[in-house]
Amino acid sequence: MSIDYKCYVGPYVKVYSPDSPSTKEIETCPNPSCSKHQKYMGHQKCCDECGTKIVTVKLPTMAPLSFDVFTETDATMAELMTETKPKGLKDFRLFVGNRCGPPGLHFNPHCDTYAVETNGPAIISQMQQLETMYMSEIAHLKEVFGKENVQIKWGVVGYAR
Ligand SMILES: [Zn+2]
Repeated sequence: MSIDYKCYVGPYVKVYSPDSPSTKEIETCPNPSCSKHQKYMGHQKCCDECGTKIVTVKLPTMAPLSFDVFTETDATMAELMTETKPKGLKDFRLFVGNRCGPPGLHFNPHCDTYAVETNGPAIISQMQQLETMYMSEIAHLKEVFGKENVQIKWGVVGYAR
């Protein structure tokens, strides 16, 4: 598997989405005095440490809200930064338009050469275009994540894909 590092310049939707309490199902050894107790032991019938029959249990965990942008928005939006998140943005998800336009530029910093010239009015205009063109998608994000957690931004995002 190879990871492609890319850069995006343009308007995007920034969503605050911290992990919340959840449960996960794992196959594990139910014996509390065993060293494999509550450790993942999939695809085994019995514990290789103590011989107890493996069972499926639900354990508490912290997990991000389940949200698949491709099915939730019919692939009209894409999520950046799904592989790795930069410092300070662990609890955020960034979405960009996935149709032709509005302006926004993806490039590969290792092999593409780009110069992006802009100014205040152009930036504001691009943010407004994003808001208009993706009105229903943005409304859906507000519905799922909360109105106060969804913001339109303009900037430079490095991401892995
Ligand atoms: Zn065991």
